[in-house]
Amino acid sequence: MDSEEFRQWSRTVADWGADYRAGLRERPVRAQTKPGDIIKQIADAAPEAGETMETIFADFERIIPDGLTHWQHPRFFAYFPANAAPVSVIADYLATSVAAQCMLWQTSPAGTELETRVVDWLRQALGLPDAFSGVIQDSASTATLAAVLVMREKALDWKGNSEGLSAHKAVRVYASKQVHTSIDRAIWISGIGEANLVRIPTKGPLNGMDPVALDAAIKADLASGHIPAGVIACTGGTSIGACDPIRDIAAVVKTHGLYLHVDAAWAGSAMICPEFRTLWDGVEAADSIVFNPHKWLGANFDCSVQFIRSPADQVRTLAIQPEYLKTHGHDGIINYSEWSVPLGRRFRALKLWFLLRYHGLEGLRTMIRNHVTWSEELAKRLAAEPDFEIVSEPVLSLFSFRHKGGGDEHNIALVNAINDDGRIYLTQTRVDGKIAIRFQAGQFEMTRDDADTAFSVITEIARRVK
Ligand SMILES: *Cc1c(COP(=O)(O)O)cnc(C)c1O
Repeated sequence: MDSEEFRQWSRTVADWGADYRAGLRERPVRAQTKPGDIIKQIADAAPEAGETMETIFADFERIIPDGLTHWQHPRFFAYFPANAAPVSVIADYLATSVAAQCMLWQTSPAGTELETRVVDWLRQALGLPDAFSGVIQDSASTATLAAVLVMREKALDWKGNSEGLSAHKAVRVYASKQVHTSIDRAIWISGIGEANLVRIPTKGPLNGMDPVALDAAIKADLASGHIPAGVIACTGGTSIGACDPIRDIAAVVKTHGLYLHVDAAWAGSAMICPEFRTLWDGVEAADSIVFNPHKWLGANFDCSVQFIRSPADQVRTLAIQPEYLKTHGHDGIINYSEWSVPLGRRFRALKLWFLLRYHGLEGLRTMIRNHVTWSEELAKRLAAEPDFEIVSEPVLSLFSFRHKGGGDEHNIALVNAINDDGRIYLTQTRVDGKIAIRFQAGQFEMTRDDADTAFSVITEIARRVK
């Protein structure tokens, strides 16, 4: 492709993207596609001869958009948001155009130094002490994996990487049942094994881990000769927004000299608002904290920030330096690939820089406060309807509810009918063994009218689903 064609098509797709965003309200939120609808329209082998951009782009327009669930739709109330604020899309387009690899300082000095700065902007914005450094990871799953590997190595006196786990007694990690499945996977991949992920019971309105039970579990493991390594706490669990009492848990963790990782992948964004920080009170005692600007804050996926108290421990766990990665004469500078599992790294700092400057922290706070308010209002309206019950009260902008017109099957039928209707998109979860419908407000372009639409759609469809 010559540079003129590159320029023309870049303009065409920029126009397409802007039209797509502007027209989202007219589309059904969840794809209305059947399995196999898309694949049968795609050739079953790559062409031998190149095709024109006109042909390729026409196929894109014909096949792809209708096969998408529209995550940037203002009435996306499912899962958690994966916001891509337009300004971050623009920044990501620049990052894609220059396509720099930001693995070492030398391979992209601007990538590294901008990352150091914007991650520190976020540290300050979240009210975390300057004892924390930070790094942008591709996802919370990998940040948590990195944290689990560090806790494992510290517990094994840095011998796990070299000797493997079979030479040692069982390494034990503690978490409640409310944590995200990325914790289970980090435990599998680190070789610790699910049997050594000790589940601590929860209590109270926030479904937080019981610190007394945590202490007892650690003591019992010590008595049986296991090696306690660390605790994974959550602020804003995925199902119903569970929050562990971080201060009390950190006290137990410190008594036993363990490592504390806090998963605030979704809720972390809300901590730019000081009034929500009680949900993770005591977090400054953590060794590692992850939150995803690619969820609520608006930085295009992928952009997950891990704050760490001791980068040296993480580097000791993850860094490996063959000669071809040495940068002689540049010792003592940050090579962020030594803080993460993958070597290659996109220029992710750029979208944070653009996002934070364009909207300002106050603009982002307003968005988050609106979402919390609208979600609380909707929960109140549903609670006032005789045939609805609130199953979990709002934690920030997430709550769950149930239609009393029937049991699990009825509520699943309701979610499906709502998503087939297409005006809004919701998902379900299980609370105390029973199906509940989740609602979260968080989409960047959402308005109060969209919350009103959610109320009408939910109540109207509930009364006609059998
Ligand atoms: C979304 C989420 C994750 C996983 O995030 P990825 O960045 O997709 O890996 C982990 N924990 C919580 C609490 C989440 O909400």
